[in-house]
Amino acid sequence: MIIDCHGHYTTAPKALEDWRNRQIAGLKDASLTPKVSALKISDDELRQSIAANQLQKMQERGADLTIFSPRASFMAHHIGDFNTSSTWASICNELCHRVAKLFPDHFIGAAMLPQSPGVDPRTCIPELERCVKEYGFVGINLNPDPSGGHWTSPPLSDRHWYPIYEKMAEYDIPAMIHVSTSCNACFHTTGAHYLNADTTAFMQCLTSDLFKDFPTLKFVIPHGGGAVPYHWGRFRGLAQELKKPLLKDHLLNNIFFDTCVYHQPGIDLLTKVIPVDNILFASEMIGAVRGIDPETGFNYDDTKRYIEATQNLSAADRHKVYEGNARRVYPRLDAALKVKGK
Ligand SMILES: [Zn+2]
Repeated sequence: MIIDCHGHYTTAPKALEDWRNRQIAGLKDASLTPKVSALKISDDELRQSIAANQLQKMQERGADLTIFSPRASFMAHHIGDFNTSSTWASICNELCHRVAKLFPDHFIGAAMLPQSPGVDPRTCIPELERCVKEYGFVGINLNPDPSGGHWTSPPLSDRHWYPIYEKMAEYDIPAMIHVSTSCNACFHTTGAHYLNADTTAFMQCLTSDLFKDFPTLKFVIPHGGGAVPYHWGRFRGLAQELKKPLLKDHLLNNIFFDTCVYHQPGIDLLTKVIPVDNILFASEMIGAVRGIDPETGFNYDDTKRYIEATQNLSAADRHKVYEGNARRVYPRLDAALKVKGK
């Protein structure tokens, strides 16, 4: 089985975006605020939006199951206040849940949290609980920067975030560390802010003893870990300067990287530098980079090709990247698959 641990509902029917635009307009003129019940999307519309897009590409490319969360750039936690985010997260998570119910063999949910800048992350717990207990979601996306590029929250190692970690430990769910839209003109959302955040999250963990407090906590750092694998020597050297343990003992029981690196040399480097037990297959399809690479004639985000082609992985290693590691990092996914006899 091939599990893609990183997919978003980027193809939701336009009614969702229209509703969100009305919600945003309502922040200036409350009379424009739409009711949740004003959003009407039928199962047929959901089915169409998936069958002709993500599902078709999964089947063409050979992925079986995607861990599916709301569109990351649309989380936009910086907009409005907690109530704005709360309503929006609830709507987006419910849609992912409905997709997973319509295509139970191909999608399983991961939750967006109703984060809001300056608001205690504890407020996210009810939505997290609902998604895990009612919807059977197997992970969450945690935004380390709800301000959207201004980094006004404490680092991930700060006790500020501990209520989320306590709930993650209780439920045994991992968090993908995933920012949203940049509203800082210096940072392009997917080309800079995402990769900056991946690198930043790793370094925040490196300088801290977070995983001493939470030995079972698991973070998936997406987009191939940002700059981390490429600069592994720098990070090892910094850890040494800071008198931290070796990175394999300090961080690699808790931090994992996905394979959303959109070219062969990048995957070759990732699989050479990072231990295979810490690499999870992902494509982030349909996402930020949708074109065809003229050098290969294939889509940049057809990441399975790179895993197949790399010389650094044995057949047993590929099985770990495609399935084994995801089952280990997402125990609730493993349990859900076992219930189905998989
Ligand atoms: Zn993503």
